[in-house]
Amino acid sequence: MKDALEMNMGGIKCDNPNCDFNDMNVNAEDYKEWLNKPCPKCGENLLTEEDYRNTKFLLEMVKVANRIYPKRKDDEEIVTMSVAMNGDGEMDFNIEK
Ligand SMILES: [Zn+2]
Repeated sequence: MKDALEMNMGGIKCDNPNCDFNDMNVNAEDYKEWLNKPCPKCGENLLTEEDYRNTKFLLEMVKVANRIYPKRKDDEEIVTMSVAMNGDGEMDFNIEK
């Protein structure tokens, strides 16, 4: 049996459209270390206060949801959702099939 919701969150990327810096090995639990850190390539803020708050909120939401929802069976269909953040505090949710 698996948790109803699984969070595959991690990695950090630069929000500057002209910059391609990213580090996908960063764990979401370590985002605190990246708060307001400048991009090593362009100097842009890599993780704004707003994005960090959103990230913590999402992690917390998944924890709470997994306490409420029953475990799912291994063969149950899953829906994948992705969240994009771009530094302005907004979150774009996309359901992937
Ligand atoms: Zn950058």
